[in-house]
Amino acid sequence: DTVINRIAAGEVVERPASAVKELVENALDAGATRIEIAIADGGKTLIRVTDDGCGIDGADLPLALSRHATSKLNDADLLDIRSFGFRGEALPSLGAVGRLSITSRIAGGEASVIVCDGGRLSAVRPAALACGTVVELRDLFHATPARLKFLRSDRAESQAIGDVVKRLAMAEPFVGFTLRDMSGGGEGRVTFRADPETGDLFGALHGRLARVLGSDFAENALRIEAAREGLSLTGYAALPTYSRGSAVAQFLFVNGRPVRDKLLIGALRGAYADFLSRDRHPAAVLNLDCDPQRVDVNVHPAKAEVRFREPGVARGLIVSALRHALAEAGH
Ligand code: ADP
Ligand code: MG
Repeated sequence: DTVINRIAAGEVVERPASAVKELVENALDAGATRIEIAIADGGKTLIRVTDDGCGIDGADLPLALSRHATSKLNDADLLDIRSFGFRGEALPSLGAVGRLSITSRIAGGEASVIVCDGGRLSAVRPAALACGTVVELRDLFHATPARLKFLRSDRAESQAIGDVVKRLAMAEPFVGFTLRDMSGGGEGRVTFRADPETGDLFGALHGRLARVLGSDFAENALRIEAAREGLSLTGYAALPTYSRGSAVAQFLFVNGRPVRDKLLIGALRGAYADFLSRDRHPAAVLNLDCDPQRVDVNVHPAKAEVRFREPGVARGLIVSALRHALAEAGH
């Protein structure tokens, strides 16, 4: 069982940033309004995610750590998914490749803690916590030194974690995020902070854009709002002069879920084709909303790819909406 868990874990947890992604997504699924992420040594020795979400009842803590146990899915609903997680793999995988502890408290309940080290579960014990959940992962890959060797420098892993946090922060502008690097000891050093945005979606997106990409970028971004055949596109796209030399400033979402989908990236690039040289990447934050029945998000375990029932409609909507906005701005 432990061996199977360790093998399967490799698919979910490649590096500290993938662990951070899974834990923050769980916090978001739990309805958190504030999420604090603390890391040390590029996440290799410590990843701690604290949220103010719904919590887990002590009696359910062992279940949360058993493979394929998820509270988020009925079989009949395989396509009708709005939450981030639905495979029930993240926590058991993390418990198989590191020292994991989950402390949690539901409203009106008592706080409890469970520990999972190298796949072995402890008993559930009473703990002290005001509300929500604290998941702490220490010494990632200590049980699999071969994997540890493949990790990059602390600096590179920290940077990858920062990218993951910013991407999720961009996806959820109404949620507050703090990323703290504890490597130096003490209170640590805040490396990214975005307080919960307020107001309507566009206002919130714009505010969050300024936090993540800078106010200069946000002030010069074009507002995108278009709909076609049951798909609707909202967000902001940069003027060609604000394109980047790397693709890190592309935030693409389908029904609020971050994706790195070839079709969408291609459509974005296609819209800017006349304005950008090959080595430049258009910067944009775009969410494509559609009926969950028209998109299959269950294509890849990392859930970054999606499959549209009518890919041509999605592409057409993006290209025409962006070209229109660029033309209005004089391009
Ligand atoms: P999944 O997210 O695919 O359901 P996970 O292994 O990531 O699977 O989590 C297992 C279960 O543990 C979740 O379905 C959820 O019920 C519970 N859980 C995990 N993290 C949290 C959290 N931060 N707050 C509340 N419940 C959580
Ligand atoms: Mg999950």
